[in-house]
Amino acid sequence: MEGYKHILLAVDFFEHDGNVAEKARDLADKYQAKLSIVHVVDNLPIIDAGYGVDIPYNLDLTSELMASAKTRLAKLAEKLAVAEDNLWLEAGSPKLEIIRLAEQNKVDLIVVGSHGRHGLALLLGSTANSVLHHAPCDVLAVRLPGK
Ligand code: AMP
Repeated sequence: MEGYKHILLAVDFFEHDGNVAEKARDLADKYQAKLSIVHVVDNLPIIDAGYGVDIPYNLDLTSELMASAKTRLAKLAEKLAVAEDNLWLEAGSPKLEIIRLAEQNKVDLIVVGSHGRHGLALLLGSTANSVLHHAPCDVLAVRLPGK
């Protein structure tokens, strides 16, 4: 079997992200693969103002969330020894962005947590589930404690 060459770790900075990150780092070391990290700042709720136009709830909030996510991403990258070039901070739908990046960057393994913010009540979270169904490559859903 040919080993993995490019592993993409998707993080939502939820409480057990550390376990998922360590698994991804271990696998990248084992296969001598490139490790990239992605975080997607989720779409903000949209208000229907009643004028036939949808207005973003708070435009400043997006840039604040992006700034805070950037700091957390940089800290994680330092911990995992991932170069800045291999970090992606996106805004939009997490499942769509993860798949898009995987397709565009020849990722051959995506590592996600079995559940995160969206999936506490589910066996497999909604992002994890969607990535599993649509990924162009292998997906590892790391089972998180408590589920
Ligand atoms: P969920 O499906 O939301 O329960 O989350 C399951 C896993 O999907 C998380 O452990 C992350 O690996 C990944 N994930 C969820 N949301 C995001 C996000 N906004 N950015 C990057 N990865 C995410």
